[in-house]
Amino acid sequence: MAGLCAAAHARELGATPVVYEKGTRAGGSMLLSSCVIWRFREWDDFRAECPTGDEQLQRSVWERLDDGIAWLESLGAPVVKHETGNPRTVGKRFDPRGLTETLVAAARDVRLGETTSDPTILATGGFQGDTELVGEHIHPGGALRLRANPWSAGDGMRLGLERGAELSSGLDEFYGRNMPDADFTEEQFVPFAQLYGRTARVFNERGEEFFGGEVSWSENDLVQATAQQPGARAWYLLDDEALKDRDVAERVARAPTRTEPDDLPFTAPSGTRVGVRVKPGITHTIGGLRIDEHARVAESLYAAGADVGGISTGGYASGLAAALVFGRIAAESALSSL
Ligand SMILES: Cc1cc2nc3c(=O)[nH]c(=O)nc-3n(C[C@H](O)[C@H](O)[C@H](O)COP(=O)(O)OP(=O)(O)OC[C@H]3O[C@@H](n4cnc5c(N)ncnc54)[C@H](O)[C@@H]3O)c2cc1C
Repeated sequence: MAGLCAAAHARELGATPVVYEKGTRAGGSMLLSSCVIWRFREWDDFRAECPTGDEQLQRSVWERLDDGIAWLESLGAPVVKHETGNPRTVGKRFDPRGLTETLVAAARDVRLGETTSDPTILATGGFQGDTELVGEHIHPGGALRLRANPWSAGDGMRLGLERGAELSSGLDEFYGRNMPDADFTEEQFVPFAQLYGRTARVFNERGEEFFGGEVSWSENDLVQATAQQPGARAWYLLDDEALKDRDVAERVARAPTRTEPDDLPFTAPSGTRVGVRVKPGITHTIGGLRIDEHARVAESLYAAGADVGGISTGGYASGLAAALVFGRIAAESALSSL
């Protein structure tokens, strides 16, 4: 997302950028996403939801997102819905394939299967694809499953550090979904997400109910707490009341790890109808390279997207929004420094 936005914007500013895309297709995780590009409706909500994020960077995303979305529409990117469906947020849902095609057409020179050791803008999508880096910074209680494109493996972070960049806060944080603890495909990233932790009772493998307090609306707090449990696993236990919700019942039915109460590794509380063994699917890292408000990470080097850390720290905010806003800012900064 960020690299394509930067290149498309640089083109309209008169430059001739090249997008080096390590993968076999353009679009990265954006192409696999639900493609809702959003911000909190109220500024205070953004601060409250992501309290340890850099306020100046958050301000840029919050103030420039609507303009960024209008820009995507002006390029011809197809909108599927003109609202997010969440009263606390505003934004639009795009068709991910249509958005990718629009941005590739606007960026023009996108070279698949290529990388460069001398980039101007780092936009490699975070380090979730590198198990060692995830282990070093996030310290999960076991290996996490990847719920993202397979190529975002910290290349931007490594290169930035070599060039003198600093790291942001929140390196131990990530955004993800608890998924059935079984193999799944890219097409199953969205329908397999077990997004009903707040209606379940949640236990770890030892039978300990480990999550205190209320689960947040994004459930990202529960996902991160799950990552810290033995084996980075949890059990969602559901009773009749929880299963009354059709969406919950359907997600449970799709989960290959649903388990009868008698087959759980611990004694289930009475009333449990079914258990589902879950494990976090890591979608993107939240910590990364530190940038200033001009998306600058080091001398003549810029970054955008999930390579950048410290924006949604302490909570969760739209990764696509940050990629769109800072992709465009990075293009402007890189060109004005020439
Ligand atoms: C299932 C799913 C649902 C999601 N839903 C939403 C949603 O609704 N709303 C939202 O805001 N976010 C959502 N996201 C997250 C969103 O997709 C990311 O936050 C966003 O794509 C990050 O943008 P990016 O440019 O940093 O990374 P990407 O879009 O992943 O792009 C990074 C690109 O860099 C390439 N790359 C990696 N290393 C190199 C290298 N060395 N050289 C060249 N290229 C390289 C990768 O192949 C990739 O194409 C979702 C993600 C997934 C997987």
